[in-house]
Amino acid sequence: MITSEPIKRDHRSQTTTVNNISFFSSSCVPSETAIAMEAEPQHQLNVIFLPFPTPGHMIPMVDTARLFAKHGVSVTIIITPANASTFQKATDTDFRCGYNIRTQVVPFPAVQVGLPDGVESFKDCTSPEMIEKFMHGTLVLKDQIELLFQDLKPDCIVTDMLYPWTLESATKLGIPRLYYYSSSYFSTCARHSIMKHKPHERLLSDSHKFTIPGLPHRIEMTPLQLAEWKPTNSFLNDFFETVYESERRSYGVVYNNFHELEGDYEQLYRSTVGIKSWSLGPISAWVNRGHRDDLAQDSEWLNWLNSKQNESVLYVSFGSLARLPHAQLVELAHGLEHSGHSFIWVIRKNDGNENEFSFLQEFEQKMKESKKGYIIWNWAPQLQILEHPATGGIVTHCGWNSILESVCAGLPIVTWPMFADQFYNERLVVDVLKIGVPVGVKENKWRSMGEDAAVGREEIAKAVKLIMGKEERSEMKMRVRKLGDAAKKSIEEGGSSCNNLMQLLDELKSLKITRARGN
Ligand code: UDP
Repeated sequence: MITSEPIKRDHRSQTTTVNNISFFSSSCVPSETAIAMEAEPQHQLNVIFLPFPTPGHMIPMVDTARLFAKHGVSVTIIITPANASTFQKATDTDFRCGYNIRTQVVPFPAVQVGLPDGVESFKDCTSPEMIEKFMHGTLVLKDQIELLFQDLKPDCIVTDMLYPWTLESATKLGIPRLYYYSSSYFSTCARHSIMKHKPHERLLSDSHKFTIPGLPHRIEMTPLQLAEWKPTNSFLNDFFETVYESERRSYGVVYNNFHELEGDYEQLYRSTVGIKSWSLGPISAWVNRGHRDDLAQDSEWLNWLNSKQNESVLYVSFGSLARLPHAQLVELAHGLEHSGHSFIWVIRKNDGNENEFSFLQEFEQKMKESKKGYIIWNWAPQLQILEHPATGGIVTHCGWNSILESVCAGLPIVTWPMFADQFYNERLVVDVLKIGVPVGVKENKWRSMGEDAAVGREEIAKAVKLIMGKEERSEMKMRVRKLGDAAKKSIEEGGSSCNNLMQLLDELKSLKITRARGN
C-alpha cells in the first residue's frame, strides 16, 4: 500500500521510490540538459499523465507525455506495472536523451475486485461482469493516486476520460485538469446532438434512419448503430454520465487530432460543449519522428511485404479489443480470398475453439502456398505495416488511433465498426472525409459479437475491391493522401498542432506563475 510518505527520486535513473519500494530501475543516466532543467524547478512545468490501461487509450497518451517531456516539461506517468513494461523502453530512451520523464507504478487491485490475479488491462476483460469489476478496480486506485498527486505536486493533470474522479482531485490541488479524449471531434459532436435532441426516439423501428441535427454535414444513422441505444448496464450508464459531466467541467480537452482533418467539428465542439480544446495530433507520428528503436529489420512478415508491389497489400485489423466470432472469421477469410487482393490479417484467437483453430490453420497454409495472404497472430507492428510502401489500404474497426494512423499513411479505408464511438468514426470517414467505404455493419454490439457473422463474404470482397482497385479508389486515394500531407505539416514548426502545443504549454506556465503569486 502506498502512503503519503514523500517520494524519493534517484536522479541517476528513472527509479521512483515510494515507501522504500523501488519501481522500474533503469541504467540510464540523465544528460546535462536534464540536470540543467531540474536545476530550475520553479520555471519548469510539472505534469502528471494518467492513462487508462488499455492499448487504444494508453498508446496516444504515453506518446503525448513523451511529447510534453521533449518540450521541456517534467513528466510523470502513473500506470500499473505490466502496462508500464509495454512502453518503458521508449521512455527510458527519452530519459537517457535528457528528457525529464519517469514512470510511477501502482499495483492494480485485480484480486480485491474479484478479477483473476494478473489482470491489469481492459483488453483482458472478456465479459460485461469483468468490465464492471475492472472499472471498480480503477476506482479503488483513487486513494493511492491522490496521495501521489499530493507528493508529486503537479502543475496540471492530464487524465484519461475514464477517470472522472480526477476532476475533484485537481480542484482540491487548485490546478487545471485536462481531459484526454482519444477519438474524433465528430464523434463527440454527434453524440452531444443525439443526446440533446433524441432524434432516434421518434422512429417506428430501430433500423430506420434518422438525421443528426445541427451538424455541418447531413449525417444519417440508425438507433441500432448507437452505443447508447440499449441501456442495459446501469453501472456503466451512471459511470459515463459522470465521465461526460467531468468533461464539461474540465479546464480543457486534449485531442489526438489535427485541425485540417475536422476543423468544422473542432469549432462546433468548442461552441456546443463550451470548453477549450487543443488538437495535438497525430501524436504518435510526431513523437516518433526521426527515430524509432522498435522497427523490425528482418522478420518474416517484413520480407513477405517487401516482396509485394507498391500499394498492392490490404492490412486487416480490428484493434486491441475486438474478437470476431468463428462464423465471422470464416466469412472474412472467404471474402479476402474472393477479393483477389493480397492481404496481411491480424487475428486474435478465440480461446478453446477447436473448429476455428483447424479452419484458420488450413487457411493460413493455403495463403502461404498461394502467397496471397499473410496472417499475424494476436499483435502486429501496425504503424510499420501501414507506412510500408507495399500497403495500399486498410480494413479497420474504426478505432480512432487506427483511423488517424491510416490517414497519416495516406490509405483508403474499409470501415467495419463494432462498438463504442466506432460507428460515428465510420460516418466521418465515409460521409465527411470521403476516404473510405463501409462494409455494411448494422448493429453496435458492445464487444460481445454474438455467434453470427455480421457481414457476409460478398459484401467484404466488394468493399475491398472498391478501396484496392486502381480506378475505383483513385479519388479516395487523392483525398486521403492530401490529408496525410496535412497531418505531416501540422506537426512541423509553424504547423497547427505544433502551434497548439506551444500555446497550451504557455497557458499552463502562466497558470503556474499566477498560482505561485497567489501563494
Ligand atoms: N495496434 C497495434 N497492433 C495490433 C493492434 C493494434 O499496434 O495488432 C495499435 C494500433 O496501431 C493503435 C492501437 O493499437 O495505435 C489501437 O487503437 P484503436 O483506437 O485503433 O483501437 P482499440 O484497440 O482501442 O479498439
